[in-house]
Amino acid sequence: MTRAYNFCAGPAALPEAVLQQAQADLLDWHGHGCSVMEMSHRGKDFVSIAEQAEQDLRDLLNIPSNYKVLFLQGGATLQFAQIPMNLLRGKASADYVCTGVWSEKAIEEARKFGGVNVVATDVANKFTRVPSFDSWQLDRNAAYLHYTPNETIHGVEFDFIPQVDVPLVADYSSSILSEPLDVSKFGLIYAGAQKNIGPAGIVVVIVREDLLGQVMPGTPTLLDYAVAAKNGSMYNTPPTFSWYLAGLVFQWLKAQGGLKAMAEINARKAAKLYAAIDGSDFYGNPVAIANRSRMNVPFTLADAALEKTFLAEADQRQLLNLAGHRSVGGMRASLYNAVPEAGVDALINFMADFEQRHG
Ligand SMILES: *Cc1c(COP(=O)(O)O)cnc(C)c1O
Repeated sequence: MTRAYNFCAGPAALPEAVLQQAQADLLDWHGHGCSVMEMSHRGKDFVSIAEQAEQDLRDLLNIPSNYKVLFLQGGATLQFAQIPMNLLRGKASADYVCTGVWSEKAIEEARKFGGVNVVATDVANKFTRVPSFDSWQLDRNAAYLHYTPNETIHGVEFDFIPQVDVPLVADYSSSILSEPLDVSKFGLIYAGAQKNIGPAGIVVVIVREDLLGQVMPGTPTLLDYAVAAKNGSMYNTPPTFSWYLAGLVFQWLKAQGGLKAMAEINARKAAKLYAAIDGSDFYGNPVAIANRSRMNVPFTLADAALEKTFLAEADQRQLLNLAGHRSVGGMRASLYNAVPEAGVDALINFMADFEQRHG
């Protein structure tokens, strides 16, 4: 068996040790005679798995006790709707920052439920920087301010946490757990699992308790955060296996030394790759230096006609999933927690070699 280096933006690489643990547990979890997939979600075995996962996530992110941690379905995309349904709380509108495709999708969906005030957009620069905070047209009566700390497709990451007087809502799908985070600055944080948490099928929502319980009339029961919170995210059957695997990833992160240790490794991985891109005329990245994503590194080849060859050769060298998103083209290397530094080194070596032969 050879495990390739996988740079997929999502569903993304998982730590090998986690997959091995899942394999060892698969037929018979801890001597209980069945797999995690075959357990009642209300039985004490699965409840212990679920509670341990939540506790480990709380430990990793140092989540204050006045925040609920929810394990939900529908991905980050359903959150684009569920957030206004739950957090508009009778107010006329919410503020949104637009820094890429995922912000745009969140904005479009929120418009179905109330007013949306786009306080800043970088569309004119094709999403290559975060508009400076001074320029934002904030509404002091907004229900909340929504932004996307890391735009997965454009590779644009905020280098600051906005300080506003309304609840701050953040789509952390592609950068949660990549570094320590002060959760107390936020009203709500959400993240689809399949980038930096675990397999697809689950979305984590971390929400301040006082924002719950004022859901929009007509909201389905299953989409009311307060109902999810009251029922331990088990109002209906949760995606048990994804939840369990996310829990294994949280334990793996703790064993790596937690988020401070991950932040150092992630900074090093990204710095190396950007240095390789900047050190050559053959490769390019258009994002403002201060806003370059540590998790998703898009890059172009000076000669776009070579892209197919680049991807085919990369594949042969076990460097997988380097194609950029279909909406922007080019290349993209996603460097989530589970992508080892050796993988980044292998990519950089390949890029230098490719340039020598084709440049
Ligand atoms: C992947 C991604 C999404 C969409 O996630 P789904 O789980 O597929 O709905 C939303 N926002 C960001 C920032 C993402 O990276």
